[in-house]
Amino acid sequence: MNYHQYYPVDVVNGPGTRCTLFVAGCVHQCRGCYNQSTWRLDSGQPFTAALADQIIADLNDPRITRQGLSLSGGDPLHPANVPEILRLVQRVRAECPGKDIWLWTGYRLAELDAAQQRVVNLINVLIDGKFVQALRDPALIWRGSSNQVVHKLR
Ligand code: SF4
Repeated sequence: MNYHQYYPVDVVNGPGTRCTLFVAGCVHQCRGCYNQSTWRLDSGQPFTAALADQIIADLNDPRITRQGLSLSGGDPLHPANVPEILRLVQRVRAECPGKDIWLWTGYRLAELDAAQQRVVNLINVLIDGKFVQALRDPALIWRGSSNQVVHKLR
């Protein structure tokens, strides 16, 4: 898996203070996508074991309390990203008690395959669906267009 950006302290992508990872790779090609540079799987740079360790350490850093981890992109549920994302969310669940996980995907919850669903089973909030320019509404919170749904799973 490749990634584009990692923000160890982020107050924009989800509630509270968070760690946020933008991964590479997306098949949805939404018109008006603000992150087209992330579409290619081989864009960005490799996601390393050292960065995974850093994310875990940042989530547990007592100097700046993080509410949780945000996963965006690109698409964290691109099939090529799912194995690495699953390992990461499993680690957050095991090693970062009390932290929530929010994930943005262009797939709809109802169309996820079994591997993608294993990730979703471990996260707290899924924001799903493609960005549809005709349904864009800047007043929406955590989503760009009104077809997208904020699923508060657990
Ligand atoms: S799902 Fe997100 S990253 Fe992918 S094309 Fe649509 S808006 Fe862009």
